[in-house]
Amino acid sequence: MMAQTAQVIVDVATRQTDQPYDYAIPETLADQVEPGVRVIVPFGRRKLQGFVVGLSDTAAFDGKLKAIEQVLDLTPVLDPELLALSKWVATTTFSFWIATMQTMLPAAMRAKYDRTLTWTADEKPADGWGQALFRHARTVPYPDTLTAAQTRQLRAWVKADQLTVDYIVHNRAKAKTQKAVKLAPGKALTSAAAPKNAKAQQKLLTGLQTKPFTGVLTQPVAAARYGVSVATVRLAEKAGWLQSTTVNIRRNPLAIRPERDQPKRLTADQQQAADQFVAAVAAKTPQTFLLEGVTGSGKTEVYLQTIQAALDDGRTALMLVPEIALTPQMVHRVLARFGDAVAVLHSGLSDGEKFDEWRRIQRGEARIVVGARSAVFAPLANIGVIIIDEEHETSYKQDEAPRYHARNVALHRAKTFHCPVILGSATPSLESRARAEKGVYTLVRLPERINDRPLPPVHIIDMRKNSGARVQPDFSPELVAALENTLAKHEQSVLLLNRRGYSAQAMCRNCGWIARCPNCDISLTVHRAARKLVCHYCGHEEPIPTRCPVCNSDKIRFFGTGTEKVEDTLQKILPTARILRMDADSTRKKGGHARILNAFGKGQADILLGTQMIAKGLDFPTVTLVGVINADTALGMPDFRASERTFQLLTQVAGRAGRGSKPGSVIIQTYNPDHYAIQLAARQDYEGFFRREMRLRHQGKYPPYYYTVLLTISAPSETVTAQESYRIAGDLKPLLSQTAIVLGPTPRSITRINNRYYYQILVKFKKEPALGRGLHNLLTNSQALLKNKVQVAIDFEPQQIM
Ligand code: ADP
Ligand code: ZN
Ligand code: ZN
Repeated sequence: MMAQTAQVIVDVATRQTDQPYDYAIPETLADQVEPGVRVIVPFGRRKLQGFVVGLSDTAAFDGKLKAIEQVLDLTPVLDPELLALSKWVATTTFSFWIATMQTMLPAAMRAKYDRTLTWTADEKPADGWGQALFRHARTVPYPDTLTAAQTRQLRAWVKADQLTVDYIVHNRAKAKTQKAVKLAPGKALTSAAAPKNAKAQQKLLTGLQTKPFTGVLTQPVAAARYGVSVATVRLAEKAGWLQSTTVNIRRNPLAIRPERDQPKRLTADQQQAADQFVAAVAAKTPQTFLLEGVTGSGKTEVYLQTIQAALDDGRTALMLVPEIALTPQMVHRVLARFGDAVAVLHSGLSDGEKFDEWRRIQRGEARIVVGARSAVFAPLANIGVIIIDEEHETSYKQDEAPRYHARNVALHRAKTFHCPVILGSATPSLESRARAEKGVYTLVRLPERINDRPLPPVHIIDMRKNSGARVQPDFSPELVAALENTLAKHEQSVLLLNRRGYSAQAMCRNCGWIARCPNCDISLTVHRAARKLVCHYCGHEEPIPTRCPVCNSDKIRFFGTGTEKVEDTLQKILPTARILRMDADSTRKKGGHARILNAFGKGQADILLGTQMIAKGLDFPTVTLVGVINADTALGMPDFRASERTFQLLTQVAGRAGRGSKPGSVIIQTYNPDHYAIQLAARQDYEGFFRREMRLRHQGKYPPYYYTVLLTISAPSETVTAQESYRIAGDLKPLLSQTAIVLGPTPRSITRINNRYYYQILVKFKKEPALGRGLHNLLTNSQALLKNKVQVAIDFEPQQIM
């Protein structure tokens, strides 16, 4: 029986509309409407894009149904697996279903709406502004700026049935096309078809007769094939010898196509790991492995050989990396092994390029996907293995709605596809390591570096002793000596400036005034090169003042350590050193990371100075010295993961030294030389850190012993924010068992951002089956929240608690 009703999720992200709506399927569209296609439907007075999520032959709604107006896709953009996944993600992350579907698709598929005005009455406005507006056409774009009087006028016309406002939904998801030609059927191509003296045309005619082609050629390819110009091909089209057509072409997202490499002979440890992974691929077991391998232990080669096994089995592979821009070498290695079978999804691509890559995956042309967080939704069928490299990285968790963790999504997809998941890291998250301890994940270790290269010796420098008039505050004599030494040997150094919660500020030395953001409770950051003060939360910018706005003194000074300032100092200490700086500013332009890393890799600089970005994935055999300027800044953060983050960062960055044949060394400057996170990172002792930190988490009732849910309540008024927060906490407590712990409400450490106030409630629990549903109901049914412009964000297992 033919379905008559479609269930559609419309493009309005509110709790009230977060449910499928029934629409009638007109006869003419009956064969096109199926689950997973995008449609355009009327919704109230508007027209909206929506997704068909189901079909039925009876409508729950017994009134007259509105009908679907248009079907946007010829084939579903979400196959049944992805459609089910979108629903699962929405439920488990407390997000709107429409938001998860949009997150799963390339941005080009997101609806863009335009409004138009159409004059419908016979007589156009005779004079004034209306006459000018409709002078050339009856339908015009909705004006960008309207005065109140003009708006009133428009409303009057609408009321009088003289004018309509229409919403046009644009489908931006278009393939890029190029002009092409095919042979015109039944056309006699003799030399008489063109003038005798038209040499090029005669040449083309002869070519078409002696060397005809089948199918379609783009104009330039056709021209090249017959040794004529594109202009001649166009003439041939005009003459009717060739028919013009278009072909879809692929925007080329990767300028570099590295040379192919061959699988390496695995070491015994690597082999033993790969054997287990390959066996799970073959057996189709949705087993999760935790590959704990020290930096430089050859995890990547194991990934690549496991991917090969999945391909050999006729299946596909998904590989997630923290951030492509920061891990170009990893992408390079996958491309070198698998070439064109790889699709790369990363934030540096334009919307069009992303859309092209997405289609190559959907059509089965790309069987390996490498990408950052959102690539976990890649439309791969028949997945044989999912790999998550650097699985501890926080970037796998999206910190805005939908707040999904790519690892959880991967585990869910693996269950559907019956395939293994490999989580790899030198410093696994405590959550994953604890699961391996309990046997939920299978622990596989690579304890040695490739070729028995020793881990570099680490020297901890106590910066409390680095005082006195003659010393540089950011550079201990030991670090300076090591940098000089490395420079003298013509080797390279990497210097990490840990900037989390740390930046340069403008202060008045006379009265202590500090430049603050007018919209947020945070001080402004000095950007010296651009001569600006910038708010890193709301984007507010202002010039650096020359006089204090409070006391009018001209003693405005900068303090705090920005990368630019450290670069200045460093250049003064080492005048001959060639320094490359890598931070948010120097990498803002497209391809900025790659450019800097390339230059450094080619030996065009002696020192790479950068923020956290340099800690990851770099594999430069020429680096023999790694220095950490300030190991402590992350330790001071009011977050229970502060030690874990510090340990991870220091271990990762220390692993950058001595990866080649020359031995390396590491210098860590700190004000907390005895802190266990720093001590254990210096020894690269992950297991020691894990045991120690687990005891503390147990005492503090934190993950992985407890689950956490963070509610963030915000409103333009602080009183309302506080009131609603207390009300929600009050409503929440009866839903919870005795073992759950509710912390707060408390104002967030940065209470005001962009003129909204933020309060938080943290719930810690072991098992609360009713919590999800309860939270959902509490928010859906709350009219008070709606009325008072209150927003509530729910974050399950938040990565940042501040
Ligand atoms: P990890 O990802 O564990 O930090 P990598 O995969 O970057 O380690 O490997 C470190 C280095 O060792 C790389 O330069 C890699 O090419 C090399 N390597 C890996 N496996 C082998 C092997 N089996 N034989 C020789 N060299 C290898
Ligand atoms: Zn002042
Ligand atoms: Zn601000």
